[in-house]
Amino acid sequence: MADCIFCKIVAGELPADVVLRTDSALAFRDLNPQAPTHVLVIPVEHVEHAGVLGPEHAQLLSDVFAAANAVAEQEGVAERGYRLVFNVGEESGNSVPHLHLHVLGGRFLSWPPG
Ligand code: 5GP
Ligand code: ZN
Repeated sequence: MADCIFCKIVAGELPADVVLRTDSALAFRDLNPQAPTHVLVIPVEHVEHAGVLGPEHAQLLSDVFAAANAVAEQEGVAERGYRLVFNVGEESGNSVPHLHLHVLGGRFLSWPPG
């Protein structure tokens, strides 16, 4: 997608603090972190948001979650606990139209979220 900032990060056209890269997923630190660990895991393939996912995305999603699990281990939060979030739509605050899984950890996370 020509105008997608996360596609540009995948292509190396925009900088990012990459923590993990696989053939199908990329993980990089959020520009505006909300916790000591705040990493975004995205599929290399452009998918708009979690609301359009279907059976054809099974492998892509499995790869994204495998990358998120690896990031949690790498960041030292796997044992302590962490939160995985997909924001969907305006009221969730979703701002970038390329599927991204937030990996948040390193502090106690309140519930319900704001
Ligand atoms: P959303 O609200 O769409 O679920 O989350 C988008 C996230 O992307 C936000 O947490 C925001 O800080 C982050 N973000 C937006 N633009 C960039 C960018 O260019 N680079 C990085 N690393 N993060 C970004
Ligand atoms: Zn994209």
